[in-house]
Amino acid sequence: MAEQYNQPLDAAVLPRFAGVPTFMRLPVAESPQGLDIALVGVPYDGGTTNRAGARHGPREIRNQSSLLRRVHHALGISPYDLVQVADLGDCPTNPINVLDALKRIEAFYSAIKGAGAIPISAGGDHLITLPILRALAKDGPVGLIQFDSHSDTNDRYFGDNPYTHGTPFRRAVEEGLLDPKRAVQVGIRGSIYDPADLDFAKANGFRIIFIEEYAQRRPEDVMDEVRAIIGDADAYVSFDVDVIDPSAAPGTGTPEIGGITTLEAQRLVRGLRGLSIVGADVVEVAPPFDVGGMTALVGATLMFELLCIIAEGIAGRRA
Ligand code: MN
Ligand code: MN
Repeated sequence: MAEQYNQPLDAAVLPRFAGVPTFMRLPVAESPQGLDIALVGVPYDGGTTNRAGARHGPREIRNQSSLLRRVHHALGISPYDLVQVADLGDCPTNPINVLDALKRIEAFYSAIKGAGAIPISAGGDHLITLPILRALAKDGPVGLIQFDSHSDTNDRYFGDNPYTHGTPFRRAVEEGLLDPKRAVQVGIRGSIYDPADLDFAKANGFRIIFIEEYAQRRPEDVMDEVRAIIGDADAYVSFDVDVIDPSAAPGTGTPEIGGITTLEAQRLVRGLRGLSIVGADVVEVAPPFDVGGMTALVGATLMFELLCIIAEGIAGRRA
């Protein structure tokens, strides 16, 4: 076990059901300085248009993350031996003012970027990805790999409201944060309001892999295409837990049947190996709709998968 980096609490000293729950049982950091990777909670669901509750995601994901052990069984690595990672706590938000919440989230992530750390976040609803991108893509647009039932490229809601969890990626393109020619959406399905709902994404060059196409292919084949589209330049990974079938992830605000399995989710995330990832999130875990913590466990495990991939990438670039 490497001594120079933070390690999770030793399960042979304090068993995994014990202790104060932090992400992966890691120490809490007061500042992103010195971190390679910051695990962050964003307890905000003010962009939710239907069933709220994702504001409670970070706390339950922390709780379920105590089930995770140190070593990734398939990759054969412990991310804690490769990089310095900590739980940076929860990002300040504002539950009653959307614009102020967006400002607070952007400021928090600007400090993370300024410290040279890569954030892996637990939402929160999908609107949180917009202020995160505002902070991380200040120097120029990044690519996007989005796993989701929904495109989240709608325009307005209830009149002239531009900021909901159904609009972040349209706003991100308009604001020059995303290169839509390097944007891929995987798992899209479900009923929509209007046949034109996906026109913005299609017209701007997003590659949309609907669930029907996905179901005809292997996850590894899909990710070969994703890596070819993203290339060597920087990209952000956004994992909406509702891409997973609600039989395995019922604790989410906008479930859609006909989804992917949790094993397929792991195989998809492992297909991100080798990409230049500037940040990642797992969003839309809504504990009030969860059953026995199973969706929070999915969220925690996918954060661990992302942590392993990103840590491996950092270590590889260093070597
Ligand atoms: Mn979404
Ligand atoms: Mn969704």
